[in-house]
Amino acid sequence: MTQPVPRSIRRLEQGGIEVAWSDGAVAAYSPRLLRDACPCATCREQRVVPAAPALLPVLRPEEVAPLTIAGMQPVGQYAYSIAFSDGHSSGIYTLDYLRELAGA
Ligand SMILES: [Zn+2]
Repeated sequence: MTQPVPRSIRRLEQGGIEVAWSDGAVAAYSPRLLRDACPCATCREQRVVPAAPALLPVLRPEEVAPLTIAGMQPVGQYAYSIAFSDGHSSGIYTLDYLRELAGA
């Protein structure tokens, strides 16, 4: 089976994206879903070891504003880096991973 690739990526009104895949599947992704699933080393670590709840975090303005996807950049043939409105952009999402998240 060949790897499905995105035919088109459309920005949704709520700040998410909709990907039309080459095999006909269409999947919508909310910014929160993608942000929470960020595969970069920093985010993976944070998910394994949750921050100690002793101190209340002071949120920066960009963390309080509604999260949106600021941009997507192809990385090679089989991955995208996604930049979020909170300034985070180090996650590289492979096409396999995006397909996996589509069913989440
Ligand atoms: Zn990350």
